[in-house]
Amino acid sequence: MDDSSEGTGQEDQQEGSWLRRRLSGSRRAEREAGTSAGDEAAAEPTPSSLLPVSVPQQTAIWTDSHCHLQDDPDPAETLALARVARVGRVVCAGTDAASSRRAVTLANELSGVAPGSSAPYASGVGTTEVWATVGLHPHDARAGLGEVTEFLDELSADEGLRRSRVVAIGECGLDYHYDNSPREAQREVFAAQVALANRHNLALVIHTREAWDDTFSILEHEGVPSRTIFHCFTGGEQEARRCLRIGGFLSFSGIVTFANAAELRQVVTHCPLDHLLIETDSPFLTPVPHRGRRNSPSNVTVVGDTVAQLKAFEPEVLAAVTWLNTEKAYGLGV
Ligand SMILES: [Zn+2]
Repeated sequence: MDDSSEGTGQEDQQEGSWLRRRLSGSRRAEREAGTSAGDEAAAEPTPSSLLPVSVPQQTAIWTDSHCHLQDDPDPAETLALARVARVGRVVCAGTDAASSRRAVTLANELSGVAPGSSAPYASGVGTTEVWATVGLHPHDARAGLGEVTEFLDELSADEGLRRSRVVAIGECGLDYHYDNSPREAQREVFAAQVALANRHNLALVIHTREAWDDTFSILEHEGVPSRTIFHCFTGGEQEARRCLRIGGFLSFSGIVTFANAAELRQVVTHCPLDHLLIETDSPFLTPVPHRGRRNSPSNVTVVGDTVAQLKAFEPEVLAAVTWLNTEKAYGLGV
C-alpha cells in the first residue's frame, strides 16, 4: 500500500538508533577488555567500569504483538499498567465476531490515550498504540464465517478497515489437538480467511496446532499473504524453516520461559532477527516466574528478556528489533 515508503523511513531511523546503541555497547566492552588504544580509562579501569555491562532498561519500548486485551475485566487499567512496564504497542487479536468487535472498539477508544497524572502511572511510556485483528479461531469454526465477514463489510463500508485500526485477519488456522470443531469446517473457514487477508491486503495471524501439513497446503492453495504471522510458534526447527521459507514471521510467547521448552528455545536461537516477534497471548500462557497469575501485556517484557538472553542481545536491542518487526509484519508504517 502507499504507506510503505513512510514506513521504510521510520524503520531506517529507528534501525539506525539501535545499531548505534549496539555499537556503543561493543565499544564499552572493548574499553572493559582494555583493547581501546589511547583511552586512559581503559588503561586504568575504575572500579565501576569493572562491573558487568548492563544497559538501563528504561530506554526499551516493548511491543506485545498478540494479546486478547478485550477479554480482560478492566482493559483500560491493564493497558495503563502495560504503559508503566514500557509497553508502547499492543495488537488485540479477535477470535470470533464478538471478540473482534470488542478488539476494534478498544483499539479506537484506548490507542494513544495519555495516562492520568496520578502517581502510579506517571512513569513508563507516554501512550500505547492499540491495534486490532478480526477473525474466527479454529475452535469456533463450526459457527461459520458469516458474522465475521459481515463485520468486515460493515467496517469497509463505514470508515474503512485501516481507519478502524484493523491490521490483520485472524487469529485463524487449524487446531487438530483439541478438534473443537470438525476438521473439514476448520479447513474451510481457514481457507476463506486466507482469501480475506489477500483481498483486503491485511496481514494474516495463524494459530496452528498439530496441523502443519494442512496449514501449508491451504496457504499454498489460497496464496500466502505478503504478511503472515505464525502466532505463539511452538513448532520445531523443521516447521520454523517451512514458515520462514514462505516469508512468515515467528511470534514467540511465554512458552519460551517454560522448563520443558528446550527445543523451542533452540528455535529462538536460530530464528533470523528480521522475522522474530514477541507476544503474551494474554490472558493465557503466563510466563515463568508469574505462573498461576492472569497474564497481561506487561509480561511481554519477561518474554523479551528471555528471547534477548537466548539471542545474546541486550533487552533494549531486542525491544527495538521486535518493534520494527511488528511494524513490518502488520504493515503499521503509517
Ligand atoms: Zn491468541
